[in-house]
Amino acid sequence: MTEAKGPMVEANRISKMLNMVLGPERFPVKVDELAQEYSRQCFADSPIDKIQGEDLDGFDGLLKANKSRSKWLILYNSAVRSEGRKRFTIAHEFGHYLLHRHQQSEFQCGDDDIETGDRNKNNIETDADLFASTLLMPLDDFRKQVDGQSVSFDLLGHCADRYGVSLTAAALRWIEIADKRAVLVASRDDHMLWAKSNESAFKSGAYFATRKRTIPVPRASLVYSDNCSGAAQSQSIQAKVWFPREPAYVELTEMSKIAGNYDYTLSLLLMPEAEWRQPQHDDGEPEEDTFDRFINNGQFPDRK
Ligand SMILES: [Zn+2]
Repeated sequence: MTEAKGPMVEANRISKMLNMVLGPERFPVKVDELAQEYSRQCFADSPIDKIQGEDLDGFDGLLKANKSRSKWLILYNSAVRSEGRKRFTIAHEFGHYLLHRHQQSEFQCGDDDIETGDRNKNNIETDADLFASTLLMPLDDFRKQVDGQSVSFDLLGHCADRYGVSLTAAALRWIEIADKRAVLVASRDDHMLWAKSNESAFKSGAYFATRKRTIPVPRASLVYSDNCSGAAQSQSIQAKVWFPREPAYVELTEMSKIAGNYDYTLSLLLMPEAEWRQPQHDDGEPEEDTFDRFINNGQFPDRK
């Protein structure tokens, strides 16, 4: 029997060890060396034997055992241009190795799964992403980089450089710890490719169901093609431009930046905490919203 361990527990255990051996100025994590060395030390009978780039058709990363399961191989798509993305992919596959290798002997991960995988779903892809972002961007160090500073794509770019990850991965990490409502939207040709809300934004109804339907970006937004000059920009607008349910007095800060290696534009949307509450029933019971049902079904990842 193998005991199931959480992705954050595993990643934090390794971070602690690296802090002791290498000290606090140890970034970016040398994830390929680490995965091989750690697996050899801890699981000598079935280590990660090789990590290499290959022309993978239709997916971004792969973890695979040999027939006798005495060796594991990690492949990443060599056609991916972003070094940060490759490193995240290796960390993601390393996560599958540590967390899930007793369940399967092969994992094929597409670009829907890696980095921007749906964090509101509880599955092995979410686990592997959470492991990767915790390993590459440990929260204690991440907070030191951003605490007390107003967020900008320059600041997030500094984090991306420090941790050797993509701007997208750094921005997703930032919205998780933001003290206000924050939503990250990736768009191309005036339509959203995907969008991620942090917990408080999601809970207030500020999210986009991009997997269910095609959603255009608002015409008044910075990213709308007519308004977009390509450089990092920022504007303050009514929140209801993006989120029609928001009261008219709520202001939203919108920042946009082209994510060079991805051919899409990132929009970071920041809003104050929602003061308004869900409508109440006559008996005083708060109306259950989608997010509560989510939580009640136990589908939201543990963020402790
Ligand atoms: Zn995966």
